[in-house]
Parts: sequence; C-alpha cells; structure tokens
Amino acid sequence: MSLRRWVGLTTTTVLLVATLPAGTAAGGASVRVPGPGSPGIGDPYWPLDGNGGIDVQHYDVHDRYVFDTGVLSGTTTVTLRATTDLGRFQLDLLLPVTAVRVDDEPAAFSKPDRHELQITPATPLEAGDVVDVVVEYAGAPGGIEYAGEQNWLADDSEVVTMNEPHMAPWWFPSNDHPSDKATFDVTVTGPATHQVVSNGLLVGRTVAGAEATTHWRSARPMATYLAFFALGRYEVTRGVRDKIPWYVAVSKELPAESRRISRRNLHRSDEITSWLAGRLGRYPFESTGGLSTALPVGFALENQTRPTYPGVYDTSIVVHELAHQWFGDSVSVDRWRDIWLNEGFATFMEVLHAEKHGGPSGQQWLRDTYHGRYVDRSFWKVDLTAPGRGRIFDDAVYTRGAMALQALRHRIGGRDFTRLLRTWVRQHRHANASVPEFRRLAEQVAGTRLDGFFRAWLKAPWPPRATVRNGLR
Ligand SMILES: [Zn+2]
Repeated sequence: MSLRRWVGLTTTTVLLVATLPAGTAAGGASVRVPGPGSPGIGDPYWPLDGNGGIDVQHYDVHDRYVFDTGVLSGTTTVTLRATTDLGRFQLDLLLPVTAVRVDDEPAAFSKPDRHELQITPATPLEAGDVVDVVVEYAGAPGGIEYAGEQNWLADDSEVVTMNEPHMAPWWFPSNDHPSDKATFDVTVTGPATHQVVSNGLLVGRTVAGAEATTHWRSARPMATYLAFFALGRYEVTRGVRDKIPWYVAVSKELPAESRRISRRNLHRSDEITSWLAGRLGRYPFESTGGLSTALPVGFALENQTRPTYPGVYDTSIVVHELAHQWFGDSVSVDRWRDIWLNEGFATFMEVLHAEKHGGPSGQQWLRDTYHGRYVDRSFWKVDLTAPGRGRIFDDAVYTRGAMALQALRHRIGGRDFTRLLRTWVRQHRHANASVPEFRRLAEQVAGTRLDGFFRAWLKAPWPPRATVRNGLR
C-alpha cells in the first residue's frame, strides 16, 4: 500500500472488541466428537481474522453487482482442507448468508457476529478431508464496518474492492489472513456497458441482454486481501513483454488530464516489472499491469498482478506497488506485525529505482533522510518488528524501513545485499515469512552477526548512531 502522495485517507483505528464465541466442544462422554475450528487464525492484531482448522486451496467467486441498489449477491465455492477433525468451522464474511452446502449436502450455519460465518456440515470433517463449501449470500456492502474500517468503495458507476489488511469479507467468504493463500477464479456480472478487471488472466466475457459476465483466473497462490475486482468503464490496453502479458485499465471517469498522466505512468508497468525482475529474480506471477480508478481513494494498493491506483501522477508509486509483487504478494507476512517486509522493502525499491534513473544514490538518500528525521522523536519510536495494529502503515514502517535496508546494503556490500534479496524472494516464493527469518538470512549471507544493527534500525526508540556498523559511514 502507498498513501504518501494522496491526502484524505481516513483510516479510523477503532479498538476491536473481539467477542470470541465460547468453545462449545460437544461433550459426548464416550463418543469422540470433533470440536469446532477456532474463529481466528492466531494474529494478535486482529484476533478474528482467518480461522483455525482449515486450509483453503481455491476460491471460485461468482458475484453480481447492481449499481441502482448497491446490492452484491453471490455464490462462492471454497475448496478447503480440514487440518484437524472438525465438527464445525468458520469463514469470514460480512454479508448476510442464505444457504451453505458442504460437498453438495446442505449444512447448518449461523452468524455468531457479523464477521464470522459458522458452518456445521451434516457429516463432521476428518483431518485431511478436502471439501467444497458453497456459500450463497446477498447484501449491500456499503456502510458495513469491521475493525473500525468501512472498506466498500463504490459510486453509481464504478466499484473497486481495494483495501488492506481487510477487503475480502465485503465481497466473498474467505479464510481472511495472508497466511492462508489460495488460487482464485473471480467471475463478476454487471452492466454490459461496463468492464470487469481482476487479478491474473482474463478467461472470458459473455454478454446476455443488458448484463455481462467476466471471468478472471489467478493460478498462483494469493492472499485474500490482494484479490480484487473493479467494475466500471475503462480504457484498456494490453500487450506482452518478456513473455509476461500486461493489462492496464484507466477509468474513463477520470478528468482528461489525469487520464493522460495515469495512462503514461501505468503504461510503464511492463518496463518496471522487467527492471524489478532484473534486480530481484523472476517475476512471480502470470501477468502484470494496473488499474487507475476515479473513485475517491486515498491510496494505491498492490493487488496481485494488477495494482490499483487513483490518478497515477508519479512513477515511483508504480515502482512501489510492482515491487510489492515480490515483497508482500509472493513473500507474504506471516503475521501483520511483519509489515516491514512489505512496506520497507517496496519503499527501498523506489530508492533503488531512483538511484539507477538519475536520482540521488541510495546512500545519499539515507544520509539526507537520517539528518532530516534526526530530531523527529515520533518517527524513531515506532518498533518496526512489532509496530502495533494502529501503526502498520505508519510513515516509519515505510521510510525508516527503507533506510534500514539501504544501511544494510552499505554495511554488508552491494553484492551480498543483492544476493540476500534474491535468496529471500526465492526461498519464500508464494509463501509467508517473518522479520526474524529475514534477520537470520541476512546474517547467514553476510557471514556475520547483525543483531546490534537490526536492533538499532528496527527496534531502538532513537536514531541509530552514525557508525560504520550501522551502515552510516
Ligand atoms: Zn506499500
């Protein structure tokens, strides 16, 4: 996510009061009855995100959106594996549910709170079972709040589902946490006058009367918050570079000048993807590109294969969101406290891109930023190894995060640093990783202890001393 070039983003941080349903493990005395899956996956920042006991393999989302009513209705098939014996389990969905089937058998369901959908299959699941869970739902996502966020973004001619860390529960049932990735088919029906853009590759579009149904497929694993669709009127351009198809869409609702500038910047997506692949190793996905919306959104987001932007006025934003395809989308956080691995790294790639394209050297940028921020106490107070739920998008996560990487580059040398980044994205490709794992790999690649360095740059509540060890001399 990048929110530095736009003002007006309202991220309200409201204390989440998690009412975990009491574990009502069935109590047959002599018969072993499988217990319930837990309502959260175990992320302390958002205890209800994701769910225990299940591992989703694939989502087949079929949604229909009606602009006049603001109602989204859909049927999603969630193919999941039970990781333990389950008498019941949960998915995350904020919309009202009308029916659930598990492997073609009607299943009992309830909503213990708005976010949780609790499903009791007719036959309990055994650990290792893979089942198709079909959920039917309908409701108006606009105005629905979860964790202090109202993330539905639509007006009477455009919808874009883009947000972080939460977006999926407003439009499909999911195991909503980046530690459970899955492949996706996204099929959306809307007015035939509009187009639908989503992740991955366009499979097809069929028109029936006044409506069109468009099908997109993501064949590589994707975190739920990175899945999106946009329904609107777009200028679409596509092509292929280095065997990677690219697809760029710019909203026709944008003013002509914004449209022109956005088009020019987004049309560099293929070139920038290629430049990043040269630094980081093979592009992890089957397609690239981007979408620019006219909706009043205060940030850009790294939706997998197709980041979404408001009017794009700055190439560095494109570098940032495409760098996330490696840092965040392919290598995803293990827990949200690991957000430095996304934002610090994407911001650092902006610095590197500027260095290679006529801007200041990374080290010059580091020195200037260090002096510029030296007396900013709040900047240094954020602990990048655990910033806290309300600060995962704090400026320090981005800027101090990128400074830490430039300092590391200076400390261990460019050759080892490049090897470190390339090894990191290769080892954790399409998987999850944590800050301590990065620290250990850095020490291994550099062949030296770096605990003092990482403490100074990520954790200490004051500026690192300007030493050789801290990469500042
Ligand atoms: Zn970002």
